[in-house]
Amino acid sequence: MKLPVSKTNAPVWRDITVKSVLPEALKPLETLSRNLWWVWNSAAKNLFRDLDADLWRATGENPVMLLQQLSNERLEEIMNDPEMMERIKVVFDMFNDYMSKPMRKDIPSVSYFSMEYGLCNCLKIYSGGLGVLAGDYIKEASDSCVDMTAIGFLYRYGYFTQSLSVDGQQIANYEPQNFNQLPIEQMTDGNGHPMILEVPFPGRIIYSHIWRVNVGRMKLYLLDTDFDMNSEWDRPITHQLYGGDWENRIKQEYLLGIGGVLALKKLGIHNTIYHANEGHAALLNLQRLVDYVEKGLDFTTALELVRSSSLYTVHTPVPAGHDYFDEGLAHKYLNEFPGRLGITWQDLMNMGRENPDSQDRFSMSVFALNTCQEANGVSWLHGEVSKKMFAGVWKGYSWEESHVGYVTNGVHMPTWAASEWKSFYAEKLGDQVFSHQSDPKAWEGIFKVKDEEIWNMRTTMKNKFINFVKRDFKAKWLANQGDPSAVIKILERINPNALIIGFARRFATYKRAHLLFTDLDRLARIVNNEQFPVQFIFSGKAHPADGAGQGLIKRITEISRMPQFQGKIIFLEDYNMIVAKRLVTGVDIWLNTPTRPLEASGTSGEKAEMNGVLNFSVLDGWWYEGYRLDEKAGWALTDKRTFTDQSQQDKLDAATIYSMLENEIIPLYFAKNSKGYSPEWIQYIKRSIGHIAPQYTMQRMIEDYIERFYEPEAKRFDKISADSFKLAKEIAAWKEKVAAAWDGVKVLEVSTDRDLSQHTNSGEAFTTTIKIDANGLADDLALELVIDKVHDNQESRVGSVPFKVVSKDGNIVTFQLADKLRDPGVFRYSYRLYPSNPELPHRQDFAFVRWI
Ligand SMILES: *Cc1c(COP(=O)(O)O)cnc(C)c1O
Repeated sequence: MKLPVSKTNAPVWRDITVKSVLPEALKPLETLSRNLWWVWNSAAKNLFRDLDADLWRATGENPVMLLQQLSNERLEEIMNDPEMMERIKVVFDMFNDYMSKPMRKDIPSVSYFSMEYGLCNCLKIYSGGLGVLAGDYIKEASDSCVDMTAIGFLYRYGYFTQSLSVDGQQIANYEPQNFNQLPIEQMTDGNGHPMILEVPFPGRIIYSHIWRVNVGRMKLYLLDTDFDMNSEWDRPITHQLYGGDWENRIKQEYLLGIGGVLALKKLGIHNTIYHANEGHAALLNLQRLVDYVEKGLDFTTALELVRSSSLYTVHTPVPAGHDYFDEGLAHKYLNEFPGRLGITWQDLMNMGRENPDSQDRFSMSVFALNTCQEANGVSWLHGEVSKKMFAGVWKGYSWEESHVGYVTNGVHMPTWAASEWKSFYAEKLGDQVFSHQSDPKAWEGIFKVKDEEIWNMRTTMKNKFINFVKRDFKAKWLANQGDPSAVIKILERINPNALIIGFARRFATYKRAHLLFTDLDRLARIVNNEQFPVQFIFSGKAHPADGAGQGLIKRITEISRMPQFQGKIIFLEDYNMIVAKRLVTGVDIWLNTPTRPLEASGTSGEKAEMNGVLNFSVLDGWWYEGYRLDEKAGWALTDKRTFTDQSQQDKLDAATIYSMLENEIIPLYFAKNSKGYSPEWIQYIKRSIGHIAPQYTMQRMIEDYIERFYEPEAKRFDKISADSFKLAKEIAAWKEKVAAAWDGVKVLEVSTDRDLSQHTNSGEAFTTTIKIDANGLADDLALELVIDKVHDNQESRVGSVPFKVVSKDGNIVTFQLADKLRDPGVFRYSYRLYPSNPELPHRQDFAFVRWI
């Protein structure tokens, strides 16, 4: 052809985003949309929803996007609606009233670091429980006026959204976030340009934007590297939550810790306590050490100050779940720090090693333990597990003697109690139920409420849940289940009169989602009993790298499509905070079946409690404590382990679940009276609300943190930093003196008037004398008798008894202990010499030990 058919160049498209401009009268909505306070204030949330219910859902409950997309017509309509305008005014007044309350000055200020925050559905910077906990925590900091600043990441893709293929395979979709449509604000410099944080990385600077999320009175600052000042190699640091390889992970953790501290400095924020939520953020203490050293302090003194003002909360009960970095990788990123700190590379590596001077990889958790005075697990049981897990870090002490403590996780009541329940509580129990939510007395009124009213609440919430499933999942299921008639059947079968059991969580294998499917025939009989119908709802994501977890989801979807289970076992795709809220408020029973003791705490069951939903769970994490508060307020699988073989144990646990359902739970639920409900079931609900829910509120949790950690630490920090760090310097000098002399301390003589290793009778007295050459530490040593009980070839520490110093002659110190043998049994004993200084917070603060 001589002439081309057409000729054109590529179109030059220019982006234009037309946002609706809010008229002056609606400006309060703009302010409200820029503070997440609406998330937990139902009047505000419902207000946004009622501006345009379809748009509200379509935006994933995002008020910023909602306001940007409201049509002019609707804006006019709202302004001409006096009732709407009045609602806006009322909510805005409530907000201003809330914001006018000052932060408390009588408790320490806190900087809180976390990789993820689950605050609301539209801010995709969380993956699961850890994030939701952090989000709930900072909301409570706002409610309780705790002066806290939080640091995290603004992820471009966040965590994935989940869909399922026709054959039940999980599909992970990563959707880029448009930051202009999120309830966040970019921090700017004096000239209105984006504020740029410079974070020195090896051989280059990494630049970060800083975004602010207003969480009530609280500020959350988010770092973001995804812009053109960074290389293609560094921009993705803040792309994904728990994505990428180990190198990306160390870059993230470097940015969170080091960059986080630099961001706080740049913003002029100087809080007293530094709280690392999980080990990811531990490098924050590396930067803090540098800051003190650059102020002119020596490394040991700097470490005293850093330690005394920091707390590490561990959430992972197994060593394999912690972050370890190869020495080479650690060196690539951290090699400049020893020089800046005046220590050697080996010194720095050893701070992250359970076995100093070994080939151990650099463990973030060990580094956190070595740079934080205090550490805690997230339930009583997990505290015990953590003591054992970390015992190797302080080898002179047994796990029973560990200083590692615990605070049991809670949930933010105003976020997780349904708005219907919140109104109900306000009406029946009074507002004290919010202001004093951690006080069981504030909840006592629940026992006076009429059974029928509780039942009506439950029915309302169940119907709301069922409507949600019908509305939101029909389209999804039609798309991925192929057969429309099957979808209709499922929708028809969802039955508000059935006992509905919910199971929703990450599909990590330890959570044992498969347990229920161990005996399909028995399960089929349970769900197909015409008289006592039962339905199970499942939801949850598996990490994209977790093949086994994804296999579980596939298996459950396959089972849910078998004729005998259709509409009886239902899987809801894309577990997120919206689905979670509908589930924990809408089902009758919340089921949890983790392998003990791998559920560090678990929090979804706590959300259920405050919504009259009963727990049926393994005695692990929080339920180990919760169930014990009232055993007539839920159900538990025993904590006794019968089999060491896990598959045998799984079979036994499954059989126990079936029989408890068949013999106890289902009959109880269907023991309905003439009014259509089971009075005994209502008793269970009342007891769970009255006796259990108050203990698992965020208010209780934040009070525990303040009392057990923030206040004691801040007090000690103030003390050791007074007078230009006088005491910190003294303690540091003392530790150095002890360390230098320690190996020269000699045991000269051990004598006892009774040989305890011979058969001895309880009640017999003995006197032991030990002479030490203290090598210059005559005033710094203490000695104790340490006793273990031996039972079934296992030792457990009974305790220790201190020796008295009976004479000092220069370097020669004579210790003596006169005591009596007490309880009968088989024991072992030894003598433990250690450096003693009343200014230390606990033994693990300086764990030098000499066994004699
Ligand atoms: C509460 C919550 C979790 C945590 O639940 P667990 O009981 O710890 O498994 C996870 N994901 C979402 C979306 C939640 O709301």
